[in-house]
Amino acid sequence: MIQDDYIDFTIRKQKHIVLIAHDSKKQALIEWVDKNKDELKGHFLSGTGTTARLIVDKVGLPVKAYNSGPLGGDLQIGARIVEGSIDFAIFFWDPLASQPHDPDVKALLRICAVYDIPLATNRSTADFMLTSKYMNEDYERHVINYNKTIQERMKEFGK
Ligand code: PGA
Repeated sequence: MIQDDYIDFTIRKQKHIVLIAHDSKKQALIEWVDKNKDELKGHFLSGTGTTARLIVDKVGLPVKAYNSGPLGGDLQIGARIVEGSIDFAIFFWDPLASQPHDPDVKALLRICAVYDIPLATNRSTADFMLTSKYMNEDYERHVINYNKTIQERMKEFGK
């Protein structure tokens, strides 16, 4: 790996965790959050509108609410990932139902990959992530150095 092809961003011990669940998965996510609330209460939590409010009501943890997913919440969360203010994602999506905001869901999954964000799309992955040794230490994620890419593209266009 050529050194400046990637930039490291640190996922701190205290993480910025986003929680999202499609309707058929909301109960499973609430149960998962409830089971893990002692661990999760030490982090900064946020989520799409309905999911966030359900967790606040049923589990009692503070969760910052973005818009509801179908109204653009996934895209708001994607933007926070780009800005670096969310660095860990638990997204129980429904693989058996088409969503009105399917393009937004796809965009969020894609941006998690681009920004090397740990992303659990089901309960077992979420369990593995939450019990990882990296929950208790800083972790460097590698993000493509787009400044370099932009400079190279500028050269392509004669600048
Ligand atoms: P919701 O959004 O939490 O507002 O239901 C989740 C989603 O469908 O993306």
